[in-house]
Amino acid sequence: MTDEYISREKTLELLKSLSSRDYRRKKGTIQDAIKMISYAVYTPAADVAPVRHGRWIYHDDGVFTCSECGNAESNDSYYCRLCGAKMDGV
Ligand SMILES: [Zn+2]
Repeated sequence: MTDEYISREKTLELLKSLSSRDYRRKKGTIQDAIKMISYAVYTPAADVAPVRHGRWIYHDDGVFTCSECGNAESNDSYYCRLCGAKMDGV
């Protein structure tokens, strides 16, 4: 499933770009605009963080350390358990 995030800033920009003449021409658009404004202002920001990318650095003693935070692990998993970096070798 892919989540889509709506930008509060972009929504408000769009609303500002609509002139009052546009509102008068189409009945009901003011109510729509108010709904959109309410949505833009009152919807909490999504708790999203950019994905960190890293790689495991293998050491001769059998330990892997995260290239991003230095966390030491005994195996090379897909993500670093400490900093959450995705280990896709970038
Ligand atoms: Zn890490």
